[in-house]
Amino acid sequence: MRRVGIVGTGMTGLTAAAELQKAGIEVFLLDKSKSVGGRMATRRVGDGRADYGAQFFTVRSDEFQQDVNKWIGDKEVKKWFGDHHPRYQSINGMNALAKYLAKDLCVYVNRKVQTIDFQNGRYQLYTEENEIFEATDIIFTPPSPQVIEILNNSKLQADQSILKTLKFSPCLVAIVELYKEVPYGDHGQLTNPSSTIQRIVNHQQKGISKTSVFSVYMNKDWSEKHFDEHENELLWAIKNEIKEWIGANHIKSIQLKKWRYAEVKRVLHQPFAEIMPSLLVAGDAFLRGEDVTNHSRLESAYLSGKSAAAELMGKNI
Ligand SMILES: Cc1cc2nc3c(=O)[nH]c(=O)nc-3n(C[C@H](O)[C@H](O)[C@H](O)COP(=O)(O)OP(=O)(O)OC[C@H]3O[C@@H](n4cnc5c(N)ncnc54)[C@H](O)[C@@H]3O)c2cc1C
Repeated sequence: MRRVGIVGTGMTGLTAAAELQKAGIEVFLLDKSKSVGGRMATRRVGDGRADYGAQFFTVRSDEFQQDVNKWIGDKEVKKWFGDHHPRYQSINGMNALAKYLAKDLCVYVNRKVQTIDFQNGRYQLYTEENEIFEATDIIFTPPSPQVIEILNNSKLQADQSILKTLKFSPCLVAIVELYKEVPYGDHGQLTNPSSTIQRIVNHQQKGISKTSVFSVYMNKDWSEKHFDEHENELLWAIKNEIKEWIGANHIKSIQLKKWRYAEVKRVLHQPFAEIMPSLLVAGDAFLRGEDVTNHSRLESAYLSGKSAAAELMGKNI
């Protein structure tokens, strides 16, 4: 019996799983987090809400557009702003879209895969929670350093060389709750407002929060330089960086999210990698040949998930 195990429930894993299940193949997903979505992340803040990973997505391929149109029809997604490559948002926060995509899938959360083995013609995924999940085929979707960690714990002779060429940059995100509404620009997103801040998003203006909650994304250089500093020092430094944009007196609360693997610095121009027979690695870092953007994003994750699923179904996309 064919049974596919997918590690990771971000856009890549959820897309691959849906494709396989549609084709009648048994599939299950494992994720170390307590919820699905990966970098499609939303947090409650008081009575409000904040997206603190991906804020929006753009669409360049017909394949993705078809599904996005369906999500719009199901009232999960809407256009946020922009005419040329419009920015689409999830109506109830990015994580709600992940939950909607996961609703008919077999998902096990709070399962951290530690190592993998191959015995009697099947793969075994061993979790930190002392469970073993068996599958005939595997798709790994975490950022490549996390896949390498799993492979390094394993006796499998998988070819890691291609994974080692991928480099990720970190991102420090502050989630800031304000006492009162402070509007920003036309849509609630301010891009590159200073030499250290990559963007500021006002979630009340974006329409996902009842109260005034902002996400502040520090840029790559700042995030890389300060990543390992203590949380209190970081929050103090970020408050200092944003005071021109969000007055210190307006701040009710501030919290930090550290994404160690946020964006891919160097992508691969192939939609997935087969590192052992029936063991694929997919994700936003893997771009299809026709993708000329050269950068990772939700759409590249979606397309990589689709291609990996097609490969296991014997199709070639
Ligand atoms: C701060 C930030 C801002 C961004 N902004 C945008 C944006 O505006 N627009 C856009 O298009 N893209 C944006 N992106 C990129 C986008 O979020 C990603 O391209 C996309 O979500 C990647 O999906 P994925 O499924 O490939 O990986 P992920 O979403 O990272 O999923 C991988 C999953 O694997 C799980 N995992 C890892 N290790 C293990 C293990 N050992 N066992 C079990 N599970 C494991 C993780 O918990 C995670 O859920 C942003 C990303 C970040 C971090």
